Amino acid sequence: MREKIIIIGGGFAGLQLARKLNRKDKKVIVLDKVNHHMFQPLFYQVASGRIEPSNISFPFRKIFQRSRNTQFRMTEVTEIRPEENKVISHDAEFSYDKLVIATGCHTNFFGNKQMEELTFGMKNTQEAVTIRNNVLLTFEKLIFERRRSDDANWNIVIVGSGPTGVEMAGAFAEMKRDVLPRDYPHMSFADLNIILVSGTDMPLASMSHQAQVKSEQYLKELGAIFMGNEKVIGYDGETVQLESGKSIPSRNVIWAAGVTGNIISGLPQEAVFHNRYVVDRYNRIKGYDNIFAVGDVSYMETPKYPQGHPQLANVAINQAKNLGRNLSRKSTGDWKEFEYIDRGSMATIGKHRAVVDLPNLKFQGRLAWYFWMFLHLMLILSVRNKIAIFFNWMWSYFNKDSSLRLIIIANDKNKTEQ
Ligand SMILES: Cc1cc2nc3c(=O)[nH]c(=O)nc-3n(C[C@H](O)[C@H](O)[C@H](O)COP(=O)(O)OP(=O)(O)OC[C@H]3O[C@@H](n4cnc5c(N)ncnc54)[C@H](O)[C@@H]3O)c2cc1C
Repeated sequence: MREKIIIIGGGFAGLQLARKLNRKDKKVIVLDKVNHHMFQPLFYQVASGRIEPSNISFPFRKIFQRSRNTQFRMTEVTEIRPEENKVISHDAEFSYDKLVIATGCHTNFFGNKQMEELTFGMKNTQEAVTIRNNVLLTFEKLIFERRRSDDANWNIVIVGSGPTGVEMAGAFAEMKRDVLPRDYPHMSFADLNIILVSGTDMPLASMSHQAQVKSEQYLKELGAIFMGNEKVIGYDGETVQLESGKSIPSRNVIWAAGVTGNIISGLPQEAVFHNRYVVDRYNRIKGYDNIFAVGDVSYMETPKYPQGHPQLANVAINQAKNLGRNLSRKSTGDWKEFEYIDRGSMATIGKHRAVVDLPNLKFQGRLAWYFWMFLHLMLILSVRNKIAIFFNWMWSYFNKDSSLRLIIIANDKNKTEQ
């Protein structure tokens, strides 16, 4: 009898694991609520119209076409019943011998319902496209509003100055500088503000001081406004309220200020800490021998990471690799503990402007930018997408432009048919 392994989530961790477990003695079923794997680090390029969503979204059925031992079901899992070895989804029940939870995170609005409803998150392809649509629509509206002082359309606010926020701010600032004057030759966008609101005094708080200083300088050079030591406390769809008493009128607020784990009901409270599943060094969830969690949704303490690992793609991929190897071994006595080797971090703030922190080397500028591009290209799935992205990047590199500015908004079918 083949061992049946259910993997919930086909993100960086789930996909890596499914590939590792593609063996004759296993039957693997990947369940995901969407039909494609997403390369989240480049969402900001979709949001700013630089690449197409299809370049960084890969249909699972295509990925698993040749994996004879792996099946895919598009369905959202709503409950785990560990006592019955079953998971329940919107569409069906699945039994398992082993279960791996790799559900990642969603945007953390820290309980603020208003913010959740009115700002844009960037945690899936749909949300990245929604940002693109809304920002492009705003530019179209500004043509009519240019003689009015409707500030709310003139400020694009990005909350959170981690790599996502910084990269987003850099991309929109470049768009304002290089693209808008050509797309709207009779109009000045001088009053359009790209504002990055940060709770820390410098951007990229998790990176080196050098990277922080440089990224702040790059943002300034591109004309983005960095507001440090500010906390957003409210937003009504028109005005962002800051704890300091200041306010910023804006109809485009992008929330990049944190994530929180996608927990599924059914496991006891002791198995969850800060919305992540508590796992041992083998990614086994506390209290279970046959249920595992990997990637962003797992919380593993090690001597090097006493407060858990950072929620990064590299951690997710390497945990999945380690678990895949362990689950392929005959006896648990041969299992290896997970040890994360930090290979560094990086962010790009615009053309020829990037910061790279490697374990023994930190560098910024043009070389860092080439390094960032090369590494991201290598990580993208499929040769076709690598070529498409490379082509888009080269086009933008030489032309300072792209042609991916379609505004696509789903029609309400019933309305149009009336
Ligand atoms: C905008 C952005 C930029 C980022 N940039 C970087 C970067 O530059 N470098 C870096 O290292 N990391 C980056 N990250 C973080 C990185 O993307 C995550 O660490 C990584 O995706 C975690 O992988 P994962 O497999 O744990 O989860 P994910 O990749 O998030 O995958 C989770 C999967 O589970 C599915 N799912 C969730 N709940 C359910 C359910 N109930 N039922 C069925 N399916 C479900 C989801 O649809 C998704 O496909 C970025 C993240 C974002 C959002």
